[in-house]
Amino acid sequence: MSSFDTVIVGAGAAGIAAARRLVAAGQRVLVLEARLRAGGRAVTDQSLGAPADMGAAWLHFAAENAWTRLADEAGFTVLRREPGWGAAANIGARAPTPAESAAAQANHLHYHELIEATAAAGRDVPLSDILPDDGYRTRFDAIMTWAVGVESRQVSTLDLARYADSNHNWAVREGLGAVVAAGAAGLPIEFGSAVTAIDWSGPLLRIDCSSGRVAARAVIITLPTAVLAQGALRFTPSLPAIYGDAFQSLPLGVPNKVFFRLGAGQFADGVSRHFIGSDRDTRTCSYVVYPAGQPLLCAYFGGDLSWELEQRGELTRFALDELRRIFGADFVSGLGASIATAWGTDPHARGSYSAALPGKAHCREILARPVMPQLQFAGEACSTQYYGTLHGAWLSGVAAAERLL
Ligand SMILES: Cc1cc2nc3c(=O)[nH]c(=O)nc-3n(C[C@H](O)[C@H](O)[C@H](O)COP(=O)(O)OP(=O)(O)OC[C@H]3O[C@@H](n4cnc5c(N)ncnc54)[C@H](O)[C@@H]3O)c2cc1C
Repeated sequence: MSSFDTVIVGAGAAGIAAARRLVAAGQRVLVLEARLRAGGRAVTDQSLGAPADMGAAWLHFAAENAWTRLADEAGFTVLRREPGWGAAANIGARAPTPAESAAAQANHLHYHELIEATAAAGRDVPLSDILPDDGYRTRFDAIMTWAVGVESRQVSTLDLARYADSNHNWAVREGLGAVVAAGAAGLPIEFGSAVTAIDWSGPLLRIDCSSGRVAARAVIITLPTAVLAQGALRFTPSLPAIYGDAFQSLPLGVPNKVFFRLGAGQFADGVSRHFIGSDRDTRTCSYVVYPAGQPLLCAYFGGDLSWELEQRGELTRFALDELRRIFGADFVSGLGASIATAWGTDPHARGSYSAALPGKAHCREILARPVMPQLQFAGEACSTQYYGTLHGAWLSGVAAAERLL
């Protein structure tokens, strides 16, 4: 049986960060990855003839983000311009009037003040309990399905208030998934190796995976909480119950994307822009034209709508129907090939990013707490401030590695 200083389970952003840190410190490391590629929920597809980020696309907190530095160092093109989300975004094909933008901006600020005040009072309740039922509510609920991934009734006020944002969100021309994959280059990763069991009863931990059994002095587990909640790993002895509760309390929302290749003459100015399908219905998409400067149109789905359509195989049809309503039948028939994601049914993800259930924001700290020094969890769900992001995953992977060193 081969033996290592540390085995890392999962070669996504957290696993890559932990492995880089431990390898740099001279440790004998093995990363076990179920897929045949590195990057996990960050992957760039090339099938439309242009890079399309099927998972993570934006460098959030971009100026301070470790992946921005890595992208720069590896020679990728970081597009240092903001996406244009927010009150000034077009609604369908229509630009809002200055008065409409100002009202949306004021409402948005007011909603966030309510969230901050609720969190400051120590109340961790469903977001839907504290929001007013005014004219802005539908639009805000839709924004939540994209930003947090779930419906407002499933959003924890405390978790939402803790999320830290710098309002710098940058894309990478060659694809952010390609940056993450490049971050894994040269690391000791065994692909196609799904871990099924971890025995932590002795001084040397034993890890069972599809290719056999290995031993290690320490293990860092970076699987998505939704995969862990399904019992993908068997632990001997069983984990303390608080970890099982944390997996269940930090489920993943299921945002999805459909990319269309733009046809000749469509958005011919080549300018990257954002618009939302509707401000009157939460069952609508957020769109990016020329994402990362590429000749594509990306429809972004969140919340119940995304999960329902994914299960029925109807994401593309919904986006086409909405685009037809906005731009007309000629526009839709001019679109080229398309590709859709299916993160909810992906067996190695079971969703897109974690959203603490109302009352369960504290579960992120529990997950981030080592079971014992030699057995730890890492990954985006462990971050209290930067959950649901690549930089949150990176920081949690580095933190787990540092604790071992
Ligand atoms: C649609 C979508 C849009 C997003 N947009 C953004 C964005 O714009 N910006 C941003 O920062 N973040 C975004 N995210 C979130 C970001 O992708 C994640 O937060 C981040 O990739 C999580 O990294 P991780 O290492 O924690 O987990 P993962 O990337 O999920 O890594 C875990 C790894 O474990 C592997 N694995 C699973 N089961 C096993 C097993 N049994 N044995 C071995 N390996 C296993 C998986 O294959 C995976 O590679 C988005 C995600 C999605 C899906």
